[in-house]
Amino acid sequence: MDRDTIIEPFRIKSVEPIRMTDRAERERLIREANYNLFNLHADDVIIDLLTDSGTSAMSAAQWAGLMQGDESYAGSPSYFRFEEAVKDLMPFEHIIPTHQGRAAERILMGIVADPDAKIPSNTHFDTTRANIESTGAEAVDLVIEEGLDPDLEHPFKGNIDLDRLETLLEDEGENVPIVMLTITNNSGGGQPVSLENIRGAAALCEEHDVPFILDACRFAENAYFIKQREDGYGDHSVKEIVREIFSHADGMTMSAKKDALVNIGGWLALDDDDWAREARNQLILTEGFPTYGGLAGRDLEAIAVGLQEIVDEDYLEYRMASTRYLGEALTDLGVPIVTPVGGHAVYVNAKALLPHIPPLEYPGQALAVALYTTGGIRGVEIGSVMFGQQPDGSEEPARMELVRLAIPRRVYTQSHVDYVIECFEEVYDRREELTGFEITEEPPQLRHFTAHFQPLEPDAVHRETSVPEEVARAS
Ligand SMILES: *Cc1c(COP(=O)(O)O)cnc(C)c1O
Repeated sequence: MDRDTIIEPFRIKSVEPIRMTDRAERERLIREANYNLFNLHADDVIIDLLTDSGTSAMSAAQWAGLMQGDESYAGSPSYFRFEEAVKDLMPFEHIIPTHQGRAAERILMGIVADPDAKIPSNTHFDTTRANIESTGAEAVDLVIEEGLDPDLEHPFKGNIDLDRLETLLEDEGENVPIVMLTITNNSGGGQPVSLENIRGAAALCEEHDVPFILDACRFAENAYFIKQREDGYGDHSVKEIVREIFSHADGMTMSAKKDALVNIGGWLALDDDDWAREARNQLILTEGFPTYGGLAGRDLEAIAVGLQEIVDEDYLEYRMASTRYLGEALTDLGVPIVTPVGGHAVYVNAKALLPHIPPLEYPGQALAVALYTTGGIRGVEIGSVMFGQQPDGSEEPARMELVRLAIPRRVYTQSHVDYVIECFEEVYDRREELTGFEITEEPPQLRHFTAHFQPLEPDAVHRETSVPEEVARAS
């Protein structure tokens, strides 16, 4: 019988206490952190939705797996268990462990990219883009038009635009060493890619003889969306869908900190023998011997078990239901969010929620700070604080002003989420009182991690959205 309540399909054997704080204490703590949530001690956060990366709760079987970890430098049995678990889902020829996803990206780009190269994807994640650009190559985002509209409903907003991909391959195919696809599309709101689109991209790659590489951090969540939303897949198992996804690719990069349910790890997988040989040579230089990469044997064991657990459909049903639950409750309150709700996070549209705060007074930061002072909740601004700083020191508003609430896997229960919703209700009622912020100190790049902020007085005269030239020069 179908019931409305989808329960957490696990019991809790081990607990971590949450330190409770009150509003006055949090107002002091966030002031002392210069209103930057990255500066808070995690102990001072009640519900931490900063990221779903590396924050998963491991299962009893994974903790037991740690004890099986064999720390032999070469040929550890833990490596072979890891390799078998990966190949069970992703049957690539060569599986090369790394300490996390970006190490796999750096090694891959070191082999395939050069200053003439253009590497397309639906949307490159920021570390992927940075690893491409550091070789001098160009990272090209080709997500479908619908994927750029926060209010539009579309079942597969992560799809790559196949027409634009075809044009790029036809016009400049000799400069395209690989085509990538991020599943789910993290930077585009955790939106899935359909199997039809994956097949279409793979066919174009084959036609132009270009290897097709998946950035597969959230492959299981993507597969579950395919099962739910794509015609013809409703009665396939998630594991079958996962295998079909990877059967179309020539390789993958992976952050095990996402859909392998561990706190650290990653890998690069390739079919091509020559590339794999080069990758292993690089791996030895910077990560370690090919049977451990940057990891301990016990980490490889935890990944091997995590990969079996992540394709469990009861887990995935609960996972998707819990993200959707938060998104739907916020929508019911009137809080504007990016729709449809993605797999790992809810993205709140702070520009629409706080229209009285102009983009360069950082509505996302205002909302993120209010969530912290109201309930000790930590989300992350994804807007003009993160993307507004230009290389010449000037400032431009970002395309969207969002606050991301990422849901760690198997960590919080429904009552934690109900608490978040209640805090949102309070913030929503007070939304007109929230004021913007100014940045009082910032580094020359990636300012969101370390910038200092100061709240603006409620009656402060709003700045123009573009920074006057003399201010830009002075900063
Ligand atoms: C997290 C992530 C990465 C990078 O992985 P790390 O383990 O953080 O280095 C790459 N791509 C996507 C889509 C990610 O979400």
